[in-house]
Amino acid sequence: MASRNPRVTVLGGGSWGTTIGSLAARNTETVLWARNEETVTDINERSRNSRYLQDIPVTKTLRATTDLEEAVAEADVLVLGVPSQHSRGVLEQVTKHVRPWVPVVSLVKGLEQGSSKRMTAIVEEVMPGHPAGVLAGPNIAREVLQGYAAAATIAMPEHRQAEMLQELFRTNLFRVYTTTDVTGVEYAGSLKNVYAIAVGVGDGLEAGDNTRAMVITRALREMTRLGVSLGGDAMTFNGLAGMGDLIATCTSPFSRNRTVGVGLAQGKSLDQIAAEMNQVAEGVKTVATVMKLAAEQGIDLPIAREMDAVLNHGQPVKETYRGLLRQAPGHE
Ligand code: 13P
Repeated sequence: MASRNPRVTVLGGGSWGTTIGSLAARNTETVLWARNEETVTDINERSRNSRYLQDIPVTKTLRATTDLEEAVAEADVLVLGVPSQHSRGVLEQVTKHVRPWVPVVSLVKGLEQGSSKRMTAIVEEVMPGHPAGVLAGPNIAREVLQGYAAAATIAMPEHRQAEMLQELFRTNLFRVYTTTDVTGVEYAGSLKNVYAIAVGVGDGLEAGDNTRAMVITRALREMTRLGVSLGGDAMTFNGLAGMGDLIATCTSPFSRNRTVGVGLAQGKSLDQIAAEMNQVAEGVKTVATVMKLAAEQGIDLPIAREMDAVLNHGQPVKETYRGLLRQAPGHE
């Protein structure tokens, strides 16, 4: 990293990219790249991202641009905040313009369709030599931006890198913990979305509080089994990026994935829900990938299997939820 204050470049003008950009801008020079011109103008002229974050102000010094080359050429740290299915394409553009060895921190809670890859694996493939890590936790963007206290975990291959990057994102109200378990944090962030859809379905069908708690608890077990078999550390799944984010996403009315589940239970189609939200719920695409990974690892994931049935194989949502309850522990 340069001896001057490191310059952070955030790739992606969605709600979480903007929020992390706003936090980083309190600590150091920060630029946000967004495709959408209105978002860029909104941030530069009004210090708002009203498309995703209504009227909540962002840090005044946060600058935005639609010019990817300009955004990354002077970057000391890159933050990846675009939906998983666009990540590879954006990184392929970025790699031509960024300096060598610049670390890349993914905010993405999704896996690449087809390859089933984590985002840091894609960074390693497309941008060899760049240390790749991830920041994740129970972080509903609007709450963090509004100044509610929250915490996240930053995982980098080397602890020293995680500690350096921690300083760029932390504020008095946003605590950042460090780990080297990149794999675990990345799987935890991606897997919890599938279970937030399941909980949303239950909430939409007015299942009880006990049922919700049961599903969340069993979800954590499923996430841990798969994540550990794929190389993650079990402790990670009990921490902020695992249990913490699972609770936030399964219970927040602002969660996109939970909203998908509620909508399905109300009889809406996926297209209708997506149009109403106008945002990406990563879990919808993650379900099939999770089933593929689980089959490869020889692991049975009853809740994920039910979500796969409803999202990818036309199983009626009500039946799916009854099936899911029947699959609960002690009844297997
Ligand atoms: P959603 O994508 O469901 O909104 O998830 C929010 C989240 O990850 C909070 O940490």
